[in-house]
Amino acid sequence: MATDYKKLWGGALAEIELGVSRANFATWFKDTDIASEKNGTIFLSVPNTFVKEWLSSKYHKLILKVMHTMHPPVRNIEYIISAQPGKEKNLWGGGHPGAPDKIDQPGFNNLYIDKDANLNPKYTLDSFVIGSFNEVAYAAATAVTKNIGVAYNPLFIYGGVGLGKTHLLQAIGNKIKENEPGAKVYYMTSEKFANDFVSSMQNHSIHCFKEKYRNYKTLIIDDIQFFSKKLKIQEEFFHIFNSLYERNCQIIFSSDKPPKHIEGLEERLRSRCEGGMMIDIPKPEYESRLAILESKTKERGYLVDREVLEYIASAVQENIRELEGSLNSIMGQSRLKGRSLSLLEVKELIKKNTRPAKKVSSGKIIKTTAEFYGIKEKDLFEKTRRREVVKPRQVAMYLLRADTNTSYPFIGQKFGRRDHTTAIHAYKKIDNSIKKDEKLSREIEEIRSLLYEKDV
Ligand code: ADP
Ligand code: MG
Repeated sequence: MATDYKKLWGGALAEIELGVSRANFATWFKDTDIASEKNGTIFLSVPNTFVKEWLSSKYHKLILKVMHTMHPPVRNIEYIISAQPGKEKNLWGGGHPGAPDKIDQPGFNNLYIDKDANLNPKYTLDSFVIGSFNEVAYAAATAVTKNIGVAYNPLFIYGGVGLGKTHLLQAIGNKIKENEPGAKVYYMTSEKFANDFVSSMQNHSIHCFKEKYRNYKTLIIDDIQFFSKKLKIQEEFFHIFNSLYERNCQIIFSSDKPPKHIEGLEERLRSRCEGGMMIDIPKPEYESRLAILESKTKERGYLVDREVLEYIASAVQENIRELEGSLNSIMGQSRLKGRSLSLLEVKELIKKNTRPAKKVSSGKIIKTTAEFYGIKEKDLFEKTRRREVVKPRQVAMYLLRADTNTSYPFIGQKFGRRDHTTAIHAYKKIDNSIKKDEKLSREIEEIRSLLYEKDV
């Protein structure tokens, strides 16, 4: 029987919607469809290069997992730019539906990974913004590119997620290649090292596995914390490390914590890691966050008011990935709306995107909302149009959707509705009203503070 692709993709979207924020869903999954399928590869048509690059780098795993679960023959997803008459096609020279798009597109060189070195050319030292929080790491990285294997060996960069470790490590590799195109550089994650090792054991090809590393002059291993407690792998790596080190090869590591805090890291490997140069990348301070935002908007040719950038820099403090994420959702929204966003809209968007990661249950949302509005929980489920019930009910539905990503049909059911339109209506109503109605906006924030802060 032929597969109904419309239905399949519709089902997949409903599933994906639950796993991503609404802003992201609206921005990246709009106008996507299945163009064709061949030998287990689904060709997903997307409206433009921007979406293609975003889906393939950020959502590929999720899309593949969902598609594979729904339709097990699916083993791979390829993204192609649909030939919509008009703008995007002319702008980027997109491909035809059904045919993989192989056209070189300006601005998105990160699709072309250097296979030998496993380096993504989008990460460069030039695009790495320097602030007081990362200037030491940057200086060490530059020194290494000028004096491979001599300056700081090994170089060990550590810091929390999204602070630029991968960017910097890859940029070192790219710079070395730029200076000397034939340079034997290799970048890998420690997970990849572990997987390669395990499969070479299974295939009895451990010899090839070891041999490979003899060829490198610079070895970059990202996220070394994954070696934690994997003793067999650490042992193998230790020998490779020694043989590289003895030949004055450069070794560069990153980790989310310093070696002494990596649990189950063998003593001798720890002391090797500590034997070179260790540099911490802490969280960026306000000025650096602002500089990063300025640089990223400039890079993308996107004009944003300074007060908006200042607001983002003050509200989004955790890391650079989140700063980029906020900027992306603002750009996405403004593209959808065809205009730039007001400061108030930006505030709303950021608030939504930086919601506490803490989980809240639907039961707690219902209980807290009822209490907040001084009504009984069971009143919320009553089929009534009484104003004192309608608003709390809509707020509860809104919070269920916004904060727990519960599906509309499920919310509808919970409130005894046969279909999901009531839930969608409630969500949209509140979502729109809070932009204009300050009182309501404050009420919702108060409910949220009860939901999230009470039992911290
Ligand atoms: P980590 O590996 O520490 O988790 P990444 O290197 O993946 O962090 O950085 C997250 C995102 O932020 C990437 O898109 C990266 O390009 C960007 N980024 C990080 N640091 C900088 C910086 N100093 N300048 C410009 N972009 C940065
Ligand atoms: Mg990383």
